[in-house]
Amino acid sequence: MISPPRWEKIDTVLLDMDGTLLDRYFDDHFWLEHVPGEYARLRGMALEDAKKELFEKYRSQEGTLNWTDLDYWSERLGLDIPTLKRQVDHLIAVHPGVTEFLEALRRSGRAVWLVTNAHSKTLELKMEKTALAGKFSRIFTSRQIGFPKEEVRFWEELRDRAPFEPGRALLADDTLEVLEAAAAFGLAFLVQVARFSSVRAPEHSERFFSIEGFREIMPLPRGNGAGRIDRGE
Ligand SMILES: [Mg+2]
Repeated sequence: MISPPRWEKIDTVLLDMDGTLLDRYFDDHFWLEHVPGEYARLRGMALEDAKKELFEKYRSQEGTLNWTDLDYWSERLGLDIPTLKRQVDHLIAVHPGVTEFLEALRRSGRAVWLVTNAHSKTLELKMEKTALAGKFSRIFTSRQIGFPKEEVRFWEELRDRAPFEPGRALLADDTLEVLEAAAAFGLAFLVQVARFSSVRAPEHSERFFSIEGFREIMPLPRGNGAGRIDRGE
């Protein structure tokens, strides 16, 4: 599972959003600092107590669809989460090399799908701030599919809805549990994004082919070496 992508064997490229294409600093700052700050202020609590209480609530929903469900958290925490996100949306940023990578993929003619656990409101905000939406041939959220990406069932259901060949597909993601599920499903090429946040040290996995940025795996043109361009009769 630690082999680099062999582009001549890849037709479909599946890409995670947060931490993979976009700087996870926004999400980390939002949930670990901004939300606790608001929660503490509204309840007249100390920030440290608010964090303790909130982090326990977060942990209770890890690996479920609620984890990224803004409506769930708005209700559970008594906060308007989408509005709070907009207050710090200047922190939403595309990782270095991503735009070039997406453009090269597009030129190569491969199918490029965004596959994300993000809630539709988060997705909408991020596409608005980054203008990346047009770079994908399809976009799938785990809510549409019915399972989080950490479950093998996500990948099975995705293949049923939008047929692709797992043996000729690549997934890049920064979450190990997602890569594990995709591996169990039989996805051939798995890439772990070690530098998920601009303010954190890279965390390299030994289980998967690990990169710090997409410039390390720029795609080759499709059909390279497998026959010449047809110049007509
Ligand atoms: Mg991610």
